[in-house]
Amino acid sequence: MTRPPLPPAIEPAELVWHDGVPESERFGDVYFSRDNGLEETRHVFLLHNHLPERFSQIPEGGSFVIAENGFGTGLNFLAAWQAWQSHAPVHTATLHFVSVERFPLTRQDLTRALALWPELKALADELLLHYPPLVRGVHRLVLAGGRVRLTLFFGDINDAWQSLDFHADAWFLDGFAPARNPDMWLENTIRQVRAHSKPGTTLATFTSVGRIRRALMDAGFRMEKTSGYGRKREMLKGILEAEVPVQLERPGATAILGAGIAGCTLARNLAERGHPVTLVDIHGPGAGASGNAQGALYVKLGVEFNDQTELALTSLTFAQRFYGNWRGQHWHPTGLLQLAHSPQEEDRQARFLQRNDYPQDIFWPVNQEQATALAGVPTQSGGLWFPRSGWLEPGNLCKALADHPLISTAFGVEVSRLLPCNGQWHISMAEGSPIVADRVILCSGHLSPDLIPVKGRFRLKAIRGQVTHLPTSAIMSPKAVICGNRYMNPSLGDFAVTGATFDLHDNNPLPATGSHEENIRELGSMLPSLFSSNTDKPSAKDLDGRVAFRCTTHDYQPVAGPVFDGEGACLDDLYLFTGLGSKGLSYAPLLAEYLADQLTGQPACLPANLVKRLETRRLYQTDMAVS
Ligand code: SAM
Repeated sequence: MTRPPLPPAIEPAELVWHDGVPESERFGDVYFSRDNGLEETRHVFLLHNHLPERFSQIPEGGSFVIAENGFGTGLNFLAAWQAWQSHAPVHTATLHFVSVERFPLTRQDLTRALALWPELKALADELLLHYPPLVRGVHRLVLAGGRVRLTLFFGDINDAWQSLDFHADAWFLDGFAPARNPDMWLENTIRQVRAHSKPGTTLATFTSVGRIRRALMDAGFRMEKTSGYGRKREMLKGILEAEVPVQLERPGATAILGAGIAGCTLARNLAERGHPVTLVDIHGPGAGASGNAQGALYVKLGVEFNDQTELALTSLTFAQRFYGNWRGQHWHPTGLLQLAHSPQEEDRQARFLQRNDYPQDIFWPVNQEQATALAGVPTQSGGLWFPRSGWLEPGNLCKALADHPLISTAFGVEVSRLLPCNGQWHISMAEGSPIVADRVILCSGHLSPDLIPVKGRFRLKAIRGQVTHLPTSAIMSPKAVICGNRYMNPSLGDFAVTGATFDLHDNNPLPATGSHEENIRELGSMLPSLFSSNTDKPSAKDLDGRVAFRCTTHDYQPVAGPVFDGEGACLDDLYLFTGLGSKGLSYAPLLAEYLADQLTGQPACLPANLVKRLETRRLYQTDMAVS
């Protein structure tokens, strides 16, 4: 037996092809019927879960959740998506498909397997475009303009169902045959199916094995044998009978305070799910820390593959897919080089490479020569090359995100107080009438805690950062983003942004010559060849730049979730989304997705271990504890 790969890589499926049909070498079984896999899926899973009929009854703004044991080639998923397109209301209803896969197909195998179904080609192409790198953990794919959301857990089924929060309307039980793939049919697995079901949830499976039928009955499903597809005489279908009607989660009026990258990605996400929001800001979109002309899409992956690294990686890959929608507008996927710019960083990268195994669609190591070729300017060392990263225009992006018919804006207003009143929140303004909302999400960086009506203190701090605009005429512009002790972007017209300083105890809101000098000095030591040989380094006092204050938590991890009071009780309908530090562009899209899932009662895109890292209660410090 081969050893499992180092984290975060996951073993891919080993396929053998017989007459063009894929089989699993490991399990000795077919992924779908040799006769006609698509027809089998329609018969077993769609028909016996009554999907066409149930889809057609979904109201606008509603959602339907399918959970599946075994993603395999994604055929079931595509068939469900196609049925959704034909039967569900087109505009604002969302199909959620939650699936698990322990041995994912490689992109090449998936391409070959899905080529078998010409009628699914358009959907298969979109799936392939978004198909995540083969790393463990949860991947959320937003497809069909948000009308279809796929949550794909790469890992073992028992970990998946223990760590994901969702409730299904229908189940596809599609492991390999129970005798060949017992792990997919354990009693514990069946208990998890029950735990993640709503009253009235249905299930279907191709197998008719007695032990499985009894286990499902013991779990509370009313089971029935029915005729299988093709040569299979029998299959099973079931329903979880219960009285409680299914409640559709419908958020009322939602106000988001703060129009930086956090507030704007969240407002846009909710609006695209059909939920109107009011976005409030003292200035306008992207006026604060998210307002720079250029910013890199960058995370630093830890040497250990722990929760912190997993969160950074999941955020990065989600953000790369998310910004794909803005390509050529405010997203420039030039690639990004993380330089081994000092002996310490060189040593860190060496240890990192030894202990981990990352697929090349995330990054690959490069030597000095390769780094120079990729960056387009001479570098002094090699490093790590992230082919799918690049840079954004954060200020412009925030403006574009806030521009949606379901986002109403209140810009240029100063929020002075937040008061709970008759089950709603009254947002008082320094001038003018208050805004009343059912839910409030605070995205106003380090200013957010001032508005939270509880005693105590939140451990958030503002850290000054100044960027410098380097005139294009004074530098050799790189082809890609270069990160080290500073980041350097390719030129945007007349200038390129570099930065930023990290000034812990400085509140000066204006650009300072000293900070420009520091940026140029640091950049010069990282990339000495950057400044054209025929020109001197630009003089700091003539340079433009910008100052903003990043909001950082005591543990340098973001925060996203409901707010708790000093006793640990949840404050109704008040959420905090901030603490993104200097990595807001990377974290915001995924965390906005996570909060929007929560606010609309839809399946979570993050596993429990990552949700825990984001909790607001870790920031809370009572007055007694403040030293
Ligand atoms: N629904 C799939 C499709 O549409 O192509 C076919 C699923 S195939 C019959 C069963 C899948 O379960 C395989 O892809 C297999 O790798 C996966 N699987 C097997 N054991 C697993 C486990 N312990 N945890 C998660 N997935 C597992």
